[in-house]
Amino acid sequence: MNKIEHIGIAVKNLEVSNKLFEKLLGVPSYKTEKVLSEGVNTSFFRAGPNKIELLEAENEDSPIAKFIQKRGEGVHHIAFAVDDIYKEISRLKSEGFVVLNEEPKKGADNKLVAFLHPKSSNGVLVELCQEAPTQPFSKASKQ
Ligand code: ZN
Repeated sequence: MNKIEHIGIAVKNLEVSNKLFEKLLGVPSYKTEKVLSEGVNTSFFRAGPNKIELLEAENEDSPIAKFIQKRGEGVHHIAFAVDDIYKEISRLKSEGFVVLNEEPKKGADNKLVAFLHPKSSNGVLVELCQEAPTQPFSKASKQ
């Protein structure tokens, strides 16, 4: 695994939290994006070389809605950049980690992403993310 790509923070209201994080970090959000696969609205900030992702539930079935119901707002996941997400998934599986989606999916910010279940990583939801290929992601080679 490479560097921490970003830290994800679950928030109830993206508009309110955008203003808060703008004050906290001293910079406005540089990007907002709806991620259909996760039912979330996201917003990204830079803090020096680091990135913060705010996540707001788009609907009640969203994992973010469930997270906030159970644990309230706060740090939701830590994302690590990887060069080859398929290789990392199989490496981590063989190390005993529980991978939530073995087939990487399209996440925010043009990334392929996969998550590890927090129960296998000391309560931390870990996201793996790889810069998506410029060509549309295709499963053809695996069929
Ligand atoms: Zn993330």
